[in-house]
Amino acid sequence: MAPRTGKNDETTAQRRGTRGSTGSATPGASLDPGRAGPTTIALANQKGGVAKTTSVASLGAALAEQGQRVLLVDLDPQACLTFSLGVDPDTVELSVHDVLTGSAEVGDVVLTCDEGIDLVPSAIDLAGAEAMLLPRPGREYVLRTALEGADTAYDVVILDCSPSLGVLTLNALTAADALIIPMPCEMLSHRGVGQLLDTVADVQKILNRDLEVWGILPTLFDGRSNHAREVLADVGQRYDLPVLDPPIPKTVRFAEAPAVGRSILSTARSSKGAQAYREVAASLLARL
Ligand code: ADP
Ligand code: MG
Repeated sequence: MAPRTGKNDETTAQRRGTRGSTGSATPGASLDPGRAGPTTIALANQKGGVAKTTSVASLGAALAEQGQRVLLVDLDPQACLTFSLGVDPDTVELSVHDVLTGSAEVGDVVLTCDEGIDLVPSAIDLAGAEAMLLPRPGREYVLRTALEGADTAYDVVILDCSPSLGVLTLNALTAADALIIPMPCEMLSHRGVGQLLDTVADVQKILNRDLEVWGILPTLFDGRSNHAREVLADVGQRYDLPVLDPPIPKTVRFAEAPAVGRSILSTARSSKGAQAYREVAASLLARL
């Protein structure tokens, strides 16, 4: 079983109590219970505002809905994932920072959130982690080692990266089996993808030979815009990468979800956005 108890549980309970929410996950078995260890997927793009965090929360909830045991890890000092799952980053006792500094283990830090998701939260002190890790030998392997030392109870671990290519993101790429690159369907959103792919190539050479790029996740897609459709048609060929399907539509429903501490999967269950994430999650499930 997933570690649903931890030192942080009380914090979650308090926080969730104030928000008055209840769990909604559909329990189910993993596709392959005999498989050793979870599949770890990083969502990275050093550009901010491309829907990394939204996609981590939504895919996590969708995979949980589909019976997977899901752990999400917030690797952004801004702690948007933590906040959007109903946890106040200012009241978190132990965070991913403690895991990276070696003062806590993953199991000590895990919070149980709504929608059947477990979370390794972030907190503002993570901003100091880059500087703290820099002088350490093997600094890129810290998260990988911590997750390996955790348990194999999860089917999937999803890493929400900060908008940078610094040590935290290198830790994510080193710990991951797969990378998904969320990218809005706009020309300017391309900027930086080449640099990210160069970094990925270096990681594959030096730090993590097994890292697979599963593709670009088109986000904030406005199907009425010719420009968006052109970008969508072009982007896979341009970077020689698979493009995950379907694209995630742009809808205001996404703005509402974080305020209530749940993903769009439960705040707007049958919206096009929720449905798109369910379909993407189902396609990922086939690869787990
Ligand atoms: P990142 O983690 O890459 O910085 P976020 O997930 O925080 O990006 O998303 C940035 C903003 O875009 C947030 O305000 C979020 O609510 C909004 N957003 C994300 N996806 C969509 C969407 N499909 N439609 C409309 N707004 C979206
Ligand atoms: Mg984010």
